[in-house]
Amino acid sequence: MAKTIQAIRGMNDLLPEQSPAWQYVEGVLRDVAAAYTYQEIRMPVLESTDLFKRSIGEVTDIVEKEMYTFDDRNGDSLTLRPEGTASCVRAGNEHGLLYNQTQRLWYMGPMFRHERPQKGRYRQFHQFGIEAFGMPGPDIDAEVILLSARLWQAFGISEQVELQLNSLASNEARARYREALREFLRAHEAQLDEDSKRRLDTNVLRVLDSKSPETQQVLENAPKLSDYWDDESRAHFEGLTQRLDAAGIKYVLNERLVRGLDYYNRTVFEWVTTELGAQGTVCAGGRYDGLVEQLGGKATPAVGFAMGIERLVLLLESQNKIPASQVVDVYLMALSESAELKAPAVAEKLRDQFAGLKVQLHSGSQNMKKKLAKADKSGAEYAIIIRDNDFELKHLRNRDKDDLIITDLAQLASVFQTTNSK
Ligand code: ATP
Ligand code: MG
Repeated sequence: MAKTIQAIRGMNDLLPEQSPAWQYVEGVLRDVAAAYTYQEIRMPVLESTDLFKRSIGEVTDIVEKEMYTFDDRNGDSLTLRPEGTASCVRAGNEHGLLYNQTQRLWYMGPMFRHERPQKGRYRQFHQFGIEAFGMPGPDIDAEVILLSARLWQAFGISEQVELQLNSLASNEARARYREALREFLRAHEAQLDEDSKRRLDTNVLRVLDSKSPETQQVLENAPKLSDYWDDESRAHFEGLTQRLDAAGIKYVLNERLVRGLDYYNRTVFEWVTTELGAQGTVCAGGRYDGLVEQLGGKATPAVGFAMGIERLVLLLESQNKIPASQVVDVYLMALSESAELKAPAVAEKLRDQFAGLKVQLHSGSQNMKKKLAKADKSGAEYAIIIRDNDFELKHLRNRDKDDLIITDLAQLASVFQTTNSK
């Protein structure tokens, strides 16, 4: 037998058994985005490598070690997108969607990062993202956070997620803080983990979210970012928290929340859960006022977030929040040769008459017992058995009366009359 070929490590098939959960989740995401008047944008999965280097930052985890980068046949360096914001800004600039306009956009699709695969962390994963362009005030930060909060509400997991907030302030304030932090950490360099030592020079803010307990211990006495906030950023942050308070959204200030991408300023936030082990961040975002200009557009403020759909589905599964789905409502079988010839036409009529009815037509010649066994295995609510001149409706499962799909037998009978008379 030929050797079987397997999927790439960390890149998962989504099997029929799992797709109803994903369709449910995607449907809610779309509906909630629409309720806030966000419109969908779809970008290619491949972009110029430079796009991500210039936006995410050269010394971030993503660009340093996680990108799928290769030369195409023309020798151009291309990268499978590791995230959506850079592509979205690129597309917005390219099509003139951003300058002097307001845009509320969402996207959904696969992202690619070469990471060590584990629960909630994959090499191909999916994000749903929101981006709002052209609005500088804290009102729009509040809007994207409220949109995410409504998602948890819709999914029934508000109790399982916590909102963490911080402000990275202005570029100047952050630069001053960086210097202070670097100076402090240099004095304690010996106690830092290797990654953090390396980051002292390249990306010192990232030391703040080091997972090493020793490093976290050192950070207890480190200078605090909020002591370096500039007045405008402080007012912006207060404007946001006042709006969240008014809307009844709880949050905690996490001074060590800095995010792994370089383009953020002012507001940053994460929705975190304790239900998924180490991969606890389900949604992360913030303001990125400099990015549009950095990528060649006219200066345009922006704010957004990205949500990991795998982590969201895992969280919903852990809380039993995925609604049951029905693949087959009616299993249709014929018990005579002439009925068999009519069966596909009857199935069509059923689909015409009962909107949304899921009809599976038995295929193959087996005896009635086997056909009924298949009908039962299909999970169908009814079997319909057609004979030469009549039909029988069999209830395979007891449902609440409200859930019954075919309640009107007269309507069902009419299906057979019209097919018979042909
Ligand atoms: P982490 O700290 O877990 O690596 P991140 O900061 O790299 O996350 P972002 O770039 O902010 O993640 O992406 C936003 C969201 O996308 C994350 O909060 C998470 O839900 C999801 N995500 C990121 N990387 C992966 C991955 N490799 N597999 C599955 N989901 C992911
Ligand atoms: Mg990461």
